[in-house]
Amino acid sequence: MAEFTKLEDIVSLCKRRGFIFQSSEIYGGLASCYDYGPLGAELKRNVRNAWWKSTVQMRDDVVGLDCSIFMHPLVWKASGHIDKFADLIVECKKCNTRSRVDHLVDNAEEHTEHVPVETAETDANNLGNKICPGCNKIGNFTEPMPFRLMFETQMGANIDDSMKIFLRPETAQGIFVNFRNVLDSTRVKIPFGIAQIGKSFRNEVTTKAFIFRTREFEQAELEFFCAPGEDEKWYEHWKEFRFNWYVNLGIKKKNLRLRDHDSDELAHYAKGCVDVEYKFPFGSGDWQELEGIANRTDFDLRQHQRGMRTLNSWYENKGDLSKIELKEESPDYKKGPLSYFNEETKERFVPYVIEPSAGIDRSTLAFLVDAYDEDEINGQKRNLLRFHPSLAPIKAAVLPLVRKDGMPEIATKLYDDLKGSFACFYDQKGAIGRRYRRQDEAGTPFCITIDGQTKEDETVTVRHRDSLEQERISLSSVKGYLFEKLGV
Ligand code: ATP
Repeated sequence: MAEFTKLEDIVSLCKRRGFIFQSSEIYGGLASCYDYGPLGAELKRNVRNAWWKSTVQMRDDVVGLDCSIFMHPLVWKASGHIDKFADLIVECKKCNTRSRVDHLVDNAEEHTEHVPVETAETDANNLGNKICPGCNKIGNFTEPMPFRLMFETQMGANIDDSMKIFLRPETAQGIFVNFRNVLDSTRVKIPFGIAQIGKSFRNEVTTKAFIFRTREFEQAELEFFCAPGEDEKWYEHWKEFRFNWYVNLGIKKKNLRLRDHDSDELAHYAKGCVDVEYKFPFGSGDWQELEGIANRTDFDLRQHQRGMRTLNSWYENKGDLSKIELKEESPDYKKGPLSYFNEETKERFVPYVIEPSAGIDRSTLAFLVDAYDEDEINGQKRNLLRFHPSLAPIKAAVLPLVRKDGMPEIATKLYDDLKGSFACFYDQKGAIGRRYRRQDEAGTPFCITIDGQTKEDETVTVRHRDSLEQERISLSSVKGYLFEKLGV
């Protein structure tokens, strides 16, 4: 068993086997951007699908949504991103490296929590001991300054009607602004959730550790709306539900934990926040955030009610956000356009929200790291990925033992039959041992081998990736066998 997986081993396996490549590699690469190769695209899609299946498909109280990335600029004023979504940074006077104040360390320990600007300000008073990660010089920094994380672009071709818009830094706001639409177009009743998976963009100051922190990434977010007073119960529910999701997909319990935020870490509107953390093998081998689960109270819907009231002022100022202040909340806000009417109790209120917010790329990295293993067969080293079958990019490989005696014909027929139901792979090239090891490295849980006996008694060998056990089953039962073992 590999005791401590090194990130370099994962990066090299990912490149060698086509899981993940550096973006624009033939042009020297683009920092912090990555492309998923043939195996990686399947793996990431399986992670995404597993989240969607457990959160939307299997539940009666969650519906899905797929919003556009570009949104009305006022959305980001109302959400607080225009004014607050910034990291406090300093520049090293010696080497000009810019660093997040909350990422600076005064010893070899690395600290990667995302700290709100307010909290980072406290750290900023104490820069004397901090080390520049660029040149290791101590305490030689400029005054801290805020650095806005949202990417900006222009929409519209004509100068008159073009406007500055933002690439969304989270998918959640698309859910809040569609709350009314979903209520009006479906039969959902509180408590219920709206889920979405999609790309988000943040101009992160420091990126690092492969796909752990990138400037373009995918999020899977759920906003679960409930009555005030029921929020704590649902917060507990989602903490447990989300923790178990990772464990059920094979993450070892010893590498996973829930960490409650300290009160000084909490965003001002949040009543509670917990991170699902994974013990990643980089930095100092430290616990790092995989997902945040927050009790956001009624903050977001109330902010968007204020945003809607600000629309006139936005037109009057020709969309110049720097001239606009968000309008005060109506005293009657509980009856506002984003409120909810409970038919049974005849009460109207602005719902509370529990938000589990996960990163698809970050959890894909955790699944890769956790599945990575090395062992020895007959004195030979073997690299393997012990993926949970539902995440494995290839579910079964079909292999004729040799390329003669009718074996390829039987194997091709089986492969053609299976590929409509599972992601399968056909391979007839090279020694069987080598072919098995290639599949182990790709994380394929089952290899089906057609050999001399197949023609005699219509049976095949099923080889198991993890136990190396081989069993004979009938050719005609392979499909049913895979359905049962893969749980699909
Ligand atoms: P961090 O502390 O790592 O900066 P955060 O607390 O800002 O993250 P959230 O805003 O809570 O992150 O985002 C929810 C999830 O989205 C994170 O737990 C993570 O899985 C994912 N995520 C956020 N930023 C990035 C990024 N730059 N690259 C990859 N995934 C990200």
